[in-house]
Amino acid sequence: MKIYLPALDIEFQPRKNHHYEDHGIVDNIAHFVEILSFQYGAPELTMNVNSSRTIGKCLTFWRGKKTFVHIGYKQIENPKKYLALRAHEESHALRRLRGCKPLELAYWKELGIPISTVDLEGETFAAMGEILALKRDGEIPPWFGARPEEFRALQLYDRFARRATQ
Ligand SMILES: [Zn+2]
Repeated sequence: MKIYLPALDIEFQPRKNHHYEDHGIVDNIAHFVEILSFQYGAPELTMNVNSSRTIGKCLTFWRGKKTFVHIGYKQIENPKKYLALRAHEESHALRRLRGCKPLELAYWKELGIPISTVDLEGETFAAMGEILALKRDGEIPPWFGARPEEFRALQLYDRFARRATQ
């Protein structure tokens, strides 16, 4: 069965031993992490979550040869911020399950921009997913770029976009 990531609008065929679950809106991220961590027997994960600041999470667990990826995120009133948050967590999941290529292909298909994301660290890669979703939805809102990884992604996007129009 294919996996569909709605905020990124990317579909892909997962490997047989890969499992993905989008838990949707989660009221309490710390609680979400706690439940899954205990379920998979990895309680040390819960120590890294600052519940007041964390608005979304992508968790990966390994059981023998199987990989399980779970995402959850908070409800956000602003629809564009909510879209960006979902795209962010979906991007983390995408990279863990399928690597960078599907995001790069989606950029090429939708925006006609050839980007290379393979060298990006995880948060900047996830912010590149946010930009893709936001660009498809209209223009990138002025608040985007406040967080360091968003700023880095925006710089990268601008560089590739400029190169593409030359
Ligand atoms: Zn992240």
